[in-house]
Amino acid sequence: DEKALAELVVGHVVDVPDFPHAGILFKDITPLFADGPAFRQVVDGVVDHHGRSSFDVVAGVEARGFLLAGAIGYATGAGVLAVRKAGKLPREVLAASYELEYGQATLELHRDAIEPGQRVLVVDDVLATGGTAEATLALIERAGGIVTGFSVLIELAFLNGRDRLAQRDVHALLTV
Ligand code: AMP
Repeated sequence: DEKALAELVVGHVVDVPDFPHAGILFKDITPLFADGPAFRQVVDGVVDHHGRSSFDVVAGVEARGFLLAGAIGYATGAGVLAVRKAGKLPREVLAASYELEYGQATLELHRDAIEPGQRVLVVDDVLATGGTAEATLALIERAGGIVTGFSVLIELAFLNGRDRLAQRDVHALLTV
């Protein structure tokens, strides 16, 4: 159930103070990825929450989102889209820039990555300010897709990132 999944995340996250910058409490979920049974429960939990029939393909945000998206895309047979950092994709891209605490970041998606009307489940490890999620949403919509769900392992609720994803099914296994 939801409570057990939240506890599973709590038990496999390491809080790292002042990484990558002073004042940031970094949520390191690599121990969860490394624990086979825990990882499988989390992947199944995300799919169960949204329902397999609610999406056609899974988008992962570089880089930790790729680990989740790959597993979900395989487990469901849905396949994976790569939302990448600038300059990594080899063909024509759509790009979306957003503000970070320090400076700017740009995400890219292949222009032809999505079929018109394709329904996309977006996954990442942490939802913080929501800038990454909002940029990903813009890319998918500009490419012709529909974001039907957004899943993260951990939501930092005090940053109100979910407000930037209005009307979407935003799901976090753990909210802090
Ligand atoms: P944001 O765009 O502010 O919502 O930040 C989300 C992105 O930055 C995700 O791809 C996360 O991997 C990463 N991130 C932001 N804050 C943290 C944090 N406190 N711990 C771990 N990852 C974070």
